[in-house]
Amino acid sequence: MNTLSINNLSLTYKNGFQAIKNISLDIKNGMFGLLGPNGAGKSSLMKTIVGLQKPTSGTLLFNEVDIIKNPDYIKQNLGFLPQDFGVYPKVSAYDLLEHIALLKGITDKNQRKNQILSLLEKVNLSDFTKKEVHTFSGGMKQRFGVAQALLGDPKIIIVDEPTAGLDPEERNRFNTLLNDISQDVIVILSTHLVEDVRNLCSEMAVMNHGQILRKGNPGKLIAEL
Ligand code: ADP
Ligand code: ADP
Repeated sequence: MNTLSINNLSLTYKNGFQAIKNISLDIKNGMFGLLGPNGAGKSSLMKTIVGLQKPTSGTLLFNEVDIIKNPDYIKQNLGFLPQDFGVYPKVSAYDLLEHIALLKGITDKNQRKNQILSLLEKVNLSDFTKKEVHTFSGGMKQRFGVAQALLGDPKIIIVDEPTAGLDPEERNRFNTLLNDISQDVIVILSTHLVEDVRNLCSEMAVMNHGQILRKGNPGKLIAEL
């Protein structure tokens, strides 16, 4: 079981704007939904968790390691699934994963190959290893994104607005896949869509104006929103 403990975390940017106000949260394996409107502070909180932004005060412990003092610990254990990658280079799905695996420091060629092939199988893209990712449908691109996020066996995965532009069938496939993954890792889903949190998450927090307004079980909390 992985645990992320956020304790009394605050962040004030250089211009004096306070984006995070005294947040405390305990997050364990499973899908955790961070729900809030644009400007709520979700990205600021994610950036702080992954070590891209130093908090002004508070502590962050990942599996009891102080990740403000040891930012490499979280970086080594992190996967990121962005909303979209923008432009894909004209290389095959396999070659793109190989490139990312190298960047993540997986230096052994056989280890890379085994991991890439088993991930492509996991996300149901085994038949498309030689196809270029820019030719994939939206749902296939999202599933490819999951494979790249899982390279290097991360313990924590950050997902940003995952289901934008997917049709219902693709959305279901994608949701099942995320659910499956979150048995073994922490998945934090940052979104302004109540639906995604309702369909996917086992725990959630509502964020606005830099604060956590409510936290708990989505079934109960969303009914009260
Ligand atoms: P830090 O305190 O993290 O060093 P900076 O003020 O140097 O923050 O800004 C970091 C980045 O965030 C810069 O690229 C800047 O353009 C961008 N940025 C600044 N203000 C805002 C804002 N209000 N909303 C979004 N991004 C911003
Ligand atoms: P969300 O992800 O929920 O949309 P953000 O964390 O991106 O929220 O932004 C929260 C607030 O912090 C916004 O008002 C934004 O303009 C401000 N902000 C974001 N980055 C910076 C920065 N680098 N410097 C100053 N203000 C920022």
